[in-house]
Amino acid sequence: MVFDLGVLVSEPPKYPTLPDYADSLTLSHAHLDHSGMAPALYKKQSLPIYATELTFQLSQVLQEDNIKVTEQQGYPLPYNPKDIQKSITGRIAMGYRQPRNIHSGISMQLYDAGHIPGSASPLLELEGRKLLYTGDINDKDTRLLAGADVPEADILVMESTYGDRLHPLRDSSEKALLAAINNTLDAGGVALLPVFAVGRSQEILMVLEKLDAPIYLDGMAKLATKITIANGGFVRDALELRRAANHSTWIEHDHQRRELTNEPCVILTTAGMLNGGPVIQYMRSLAGDRKNSILLTGYQVEGTNGRLLLEKGHIIDPDTKGRLPVSASVRQFDFSAHADQKGLLEIADKADPSEIILMHGSPEATAALEAKLSEEGYKVHAPEIGETIEL
Ligand SMILES: [Zn+2]
Ligand SMILES: [Zn+2]
Repeated sequence: MVFDLGVLVSEPPKYPTLPDYADSLTLSHAHLDHSGMAPALYKKQSLPIYATELTFQLSQVLQEDNIKVTEQQGYPLPYNPKDIQKSITGRIAMGYRQPRNIHSGISMQLYDAGHIPGSASPLLELEGRKLLYTGDINDKDTRLLAGADVPEADILVMESTYGDRLHPLRDSSEKALLAAINNTLDAGGVALLPVFAVGRSQEILMVLEKLDAPIYLDGMAKLATKITIANGGFVRDALELRRAANHSTWIEHDHQRRELTNEPCVILTTAGMLNGGPVIQYMRSLAGDRKNSILLTGYQVEGTNGRLLLEKGHIIDPDTKGRLPVSASVRQFDFSAHADQKGLLEIADKADPSEIILMHGSPEATAALEAKLSEEGYKVHAPEIGETIEL
């Protein structure tokens, strides 16, 4: 049984070694670092793939986009669009809290992980022993999603992305973002918000619902929003999300993009780390004017334009490969979709396991969380990559 099979989206992209054989593949959520290699495994051997219906739909969008980007960058593809289509045959959609026998003697249930729409923490049960794999998890409510639903387990395999940090309250991040937008609009500028397509763009749309200014939505965020609305059972308030989406104007054509930059407004567009997509076009026309602002609401991975913008105050235009200087104000806000150190400790307390295995974190974050959990009396282990653990 394989849980998640992702790609490391970087230049060049990094792919994991595929297992020789797997009985099944379970995807916790749609993000490419968890779902990006699923079609490659299915191409090697047909097998059942378990996930929520929304994870299947969103991961397909992200996989298809990733193939396009990888091809444009000139790197070898681990699979092609036809392989993505073929892997649909293996899909078995599961709802939350619906046990299913996936192998003789092994049953599995998915619990809502609160990370992005459709995200799940699989709970395995074998001979009365339970193993919970959190996937990426957020224990706190946001406007879009309810916090994670955490069951008890004997063994807890937990992510540790923010194992060494605390997030501000969501409410204060929302207020800070709205204040920055209002300042920009008052100065006659445009607020450009590069957003992740899945989850973040829908949440920010909801945060901006009461804003009295034109809001535009562009890029892959439109499709992700459409799919999320069509699967409204996965969000806290589908009606509210629909209302927020209707409050924005969706951009379809180039000429619209050019016209937009003349009046004070808010533009939400992908890519969230400014590595491609319509955000580049907006940057070309907006970045040079200091009355505009670029407001980041997501983590900016090293090696991306977003990180370059924060650290050096410019980006590299992917078409010309030239430097695009930025005079507009640049700010970053914490809207993390991961539990922080305190949240992860609370998740551990809820699961109440006899053993914890940590993963999905930088060495520093994982070590800090390992120390905290040990202090609280948990038996905890942070394996090296490739290490085998006997359970
Ligand atoms: Zn994720
Ligand atoms: Zn992840």
